Amino acid sequence: MAFEGLAERLQGTIKKITGKGKVSEQDVKEMTREVRLALLEADVNFKVVKQLIARIKERAVGQEVMESLTPGQQVIKVVKEELTSLMGGEQSKVAVADRSPTVIMMVGLQGAGKTTTTGKLANHLRKNHNRNPLLVACDVYRPAAVDQLETLGTQLDMPVFSSGTEANPVDIANEAIAQAKENHNDYVIIDTAGRLHVDENLMEELQHIKADVKPDEIFLVVDSMTGQDAVNVAESFNDQLDITGVVLTKLDGDTRGGAALSIKAVTDKPIKFAGMGEKLDQLEAFHPERMASRILG
Ligand code: GDP
Repeated sequence: MAFEGLAERLQGTIKKITGKGKVSEQDVKEMTREVRLALLEADVNFKVVKQLIARIKERAVGQEVMESLTPGQQVIKVVKEELTSLMGGEQSKVAVADRSPTVIMMVGLQGAGKTTTTGKLANHLRKNHNRNPLLVACDVYRPAAVDQLETLGTQLDMPVFSSGTEANPVDIANEAIAQAKENHNDYVIIDTAGRLHVDENLMEELQHIKADVKPDEIFLVVDSMTGQDAVNVAESFNDQLDITGVVLTKLDGDTRGGAALSIKAVTDKPIKFAGMGEKLDQLEAFHPERMASRILG
């Protein structure tokens, strides 16, 4: 599971300070130094670490801690609150359009887990929100992607709209939305094409779909195993498409977790879900506070 290394280091640091009846500036300095190193080691973006540490320091030597009866615990509370707010504060919800169907566009690089996440999200919406989604295969460049989505649809017993690999993705998306209206599907989840790298053709195609379809959400699927690259990818997609949220996949893997902690700060877009495995029920709503508690123990 992600964050194991970070959690271990931070929990060690925390133990040293929690029981203290008095916390000196020197204690705060040492603690923030260790927190800083632990975050950098977990591959958190250095600018993000710098800002976070500055905020923790400012609050930790302030009144709320120094005048508290349990200053050690108070310092940890500050660290937890700042970690939570770094990851987005409140948990954010998936949009519901005023007029059905709500349209969600899934974007991301090849291999990030986009198609799998399309299926997982549909499953989540049906199971937890009683929704009736239509999946749409707009990755026309990889015949295997269309087949993969159809297989997911069969596994989930959910409709999939596809027009093979000859049609234009904008037309496919529009036809799918028309069909969803007819069949009363309240969500349309569009699986778009991915490439190995961010490139102009990909972005242009995604921009065309966005301009025409006007999705209610654009979720970027990023692989948390790719560390700082995930953060760079998120920055480019956000610049080009103004995404509405991020799904971090493969958080079950042996990742250092830095991406999860940097993406919100760098893009100012919320992490909405975390992929915790390959199975279709292994998608969790992302709760910043719970994640901070998991890290801090
Ligand atoms: P796409 O090219 O972005 O559509 O990626 P796919 O959906 O085909 O996924 C690529 C691989 O990542 C597949 O083997 C998936 O099973 C795997 N995968 C996706 N999400 C997760 C996750 O959260 N955890 C793990 N362990 N594997 C995942």
